Amino acid sequence: MHRKLLMNEERVRRNLTDDAGCVLCGVTQESILHVLRDCHGANVVWSQGEIKFRNGSVDSSIKFSGLCWLLWKNRNMYIFQQYNHTTEELICSSKTVVSTIKDAVANTDRSRLSWPVRIKWCPSSSGWVEINTDEAFNRDDEIHTATGW
Ligand SMILES: [Zn+2]
Repeated sequence: MHRKLLMNEERVRRNLTDDAGCVLCGVTQESILHVLRDCHGANVVWSQGEIKFRNGSVDSSIKFSGLCWLLWKNRNMYIFQQYNHTTEELICSSKTVVSTIKDAVANTDRSRLSWPVRIKWCPSSSGWVEINTDEAFNRDDEIHTATGW
């Protein structure tokens, strides 16, 4: 993730802004470690979230990734929607993320897995505008769970 996610520290390095401060708490250097570990909400998720990690387990790696994703989304929700999660909401969301991941790992039915199909993007024909979207849904009940642009 180093230099891949545009924290303000990286945005300053790329001359996209002159303010390297954290948008959530105002600390002077918004680095990846700050957003995912040290910022107030992140610190609460890691210290009070009651999420257990076992060294080297796949389960722990997936939980770790899920929580990093949650914290990144939290930061972006504040920037783009001006919504600041409460500490309780973050802890609740972190439990939901971990629970969802654990259920998905436990209920993986290998027989339902299929080979990935590579889809190549192609430019649209002249005169057309193309909008790329994606979504995820539960195969069993076909309830849509996420849609992105
Ligand atoms: Zn912060």
